Amino acid sequence: MHEFAHQLDQEDGKAEGVPILQRNSDYSIWAKVMTEAYQQLCNDVLQGVNNVIDSYGATNPAEFFAVATETFFEKPHQLLSHHPAVYQQLQSYYQLNPVQWNYPSSVTFLK
Ligand SMILES: [Zn+2]
Repeated sequence: MHEFAHQLDQEDGKAEGVPILQRNSDYSIWAKVMTEAYQQLCNDVLQGVNNVIDSYGATNPAEFFAVATETFFEKPHQLLSHHPAVYQQLQSYYQLNPVQWNYPSSVTFLK
């Protein structure tokens, strides 16, 4: 899922954490939500505070999008409760709502 997110990010020729969105008007809210969450993650990493989004996402905005995508599919309930705006952006982008999925308890994800 991480690498798939990178592929989607690069669809427009640039790897900057912004995939191609449905509407031109979607970009400003995407930028606002993702930039705020990225900066919060960077601060949390600096201060040693846990964040449901893995610290590798603080590497740069492209890694943030890839790691946030992992979190969206792997820990949707935690992402929704801690970062509802990020969840909403990813839900809108992927047109999927993983909090409604029933994962078998044995499912594990490979990175
Ligand atoms: Zn990556």
